[in-house]
Amino acid sequence: DMKQLESVDDMVKDVEHLLATQAKLKNIDIVIAEPITASIFCDKSQIKQVLINLMKNAIEAMNEAGFITLHVHDTDAEVEILVCDEGPGIPHEIINKLGEPFFTTKQSGTGLGIMISKQILESHHGRMEIMNNEGKGTTFKLVFPKYYKRK
Ligand code: ADP
Ligand code: MG
Repeated sequence: DMKQLESVDDMVKDVEHLLATQAKLKNIDIVIAEPITASIFCDKSQIKQVLINLMKNAIEAMNEAGFITLHVHDTDAEVEILVCDEGPGIPHEIINKLGEPFFTTKQSGTGLGIMISKQILESHHGRMEIMNNEGKGTTFKLVFPKYYKRK
């Protein structure tokens, strides 16, 4: 188990750097919305993998130039990371299928990204919420408990 206290700032910036060039090819800008100081107790490479999965989905969903915006909210009990895209949203008739193994709407999709992401979140006592705005975009919210003492 590789879990330790990690800076959310560093993880979000790393993933932004990793995917910025790929996003730019579709005229998509990845924006980190606010300065971040939160930390979570986690396996850094696994959480970065979750962020990569969600941001790749966001890039793939967007057919026009626009923004993918990353927000981090540090509340008393939890840290939230939001990945917001300006894609078409998720048709309501398939929203419950997301995360089922091999469910994909893509020609060469694996349908594994969301399932694996949910498993990683569960192993961190976290969760994923999908806030869907059909026609306006999708937000994936990752919620992590702070189960370490801050003194
Ligand atoms: P894959 O990307 O291989 O299809 P995922 O598990 O990552 O598998 O995603 C499953 C499906 O969920 C996608 O095929 C797509 O239909 C839908 N989806 C995921 N993220 C988004 C998004 N940001 N906007 C619209 N649809 C999405
Ligand atoms: Mg995917």
